[in-house]
Amino acid sequence: MERAGVEALLVRHLPNVRYLTGFSGTAGLLLVRRTGAVLITDFRYATQAGEEVQDAARVEIEAVNVWDRLGKILAAEPVATMGYEPHVLTVKELERLRAACPAPLEPAGEWVEELRTVKAPEEVEAIREAARVAEAALAEILPGIRVGQSERRIGAALESALRQLGSEWHPFPTIVASGPRSALPHARTSDRTVGRGEWVLLDFGAQVRGYCADLTRTVLIGGRADDRQREIYALVHRAQSQALKGIRPGLTGRQADALAREVIVAGGFGDSFGHSLGHGLGLEVHEAPRLSPASETPIPAHAVVTVEPGVYLPGWGGVRLEDDLLVSPDGPVCLSSNRTELLELT
Ligand code: ZN
Ligand code: ZN
Repeated sequence: MERAGVEALLVRHLPNVRYLTGFSGTAGLLLVRRTGAVLITDFRYATQAGEEVQDAARVEIEAVNVWDRLGKILAAEPVATMGYEPHVLTVKELERLRAACPAPLEPAGEWVEELRTVKAPEEVEAIREAARVAEAALAEILPGIRVGQSERRIGAALESALRQLGSEWHPFPTIVASGPRSALPHARTSDRTVGRGEWVLLDFGAQVRGYCADLTRTVLIGGRADDRQREIYALVHRAQSQALKGIRPGLTGRQADALAREVIVAGGFGDSFGHSLGHGLGLEVHEAPRLSPASETPIPAHAVVTVEPGVYLPGWGGVRLEDDLLVSPDGPVCLSSNRTELLELT
């Protein structure tokens, strides 16, 4: 803020508010100044805000309009310049901020998101626990998957197990994609029933103390894998292993992505891996840094990222494997089990 010449910053993005104060409510404004922070929220959170925020910020409960309250606070304690989050604020909110703040407004960068890329040990621990919950849920439902069940039924069983084993919520809609539908990287779980000898791709997450885990497993149902299935599974597995072993702080997103991509390209399936290798994980399931061919940003030490290469062949199906990795200066640490040997469920 000082470097940018911004005296105050209005934090509107709720994961950023939570990161800075601990407040987990669904509405609120955080005004950050050198002299301290003020969280403005509404009556629903009167008790919760005080408990969660403690001395990270002064809490003001506003019954009518949080933007009017912001205006009153700024009238009493004026600022010379006000930064805001241009990637988050709606046009209408920017108008409200203009009405509340007579000082010049400055679009700020993704400053809090940048802070969030470097995880503290307790954040890493929460992600590790979320990954444990996710894997325990999968282990519980795998033996019950049968040929003839619908993707939706399998997804429902998985989501139920996730909740019962301690996931606070689903960080994203669970993907269960079978047969040729596994070739759709962002498939929606459908009513299609699983056939014999088909892939079932499961992409699912868990959330613990606000922190997300994100895993993908691809398993074969009702038979043994044929040669092509084996070949492609082994290729994705090799690509994932190489990236899990090789990602270091300081590599750019592009370099990290290349660790897996070069294996898939060498195997002849470069055109079938159309998405980036992974993304940061934390209070949001997709956050910085991006492990993408387009990213020249270095990965900081103590970032947590997903590593999720895939090969997708339209009409045939797809294989993706996803694990969650702590990019530690002492070498990469997988926070999920990386139990990714080919599973053939009969
Ligand atoms: Zn995923
Ligand atoms: Zn992911």
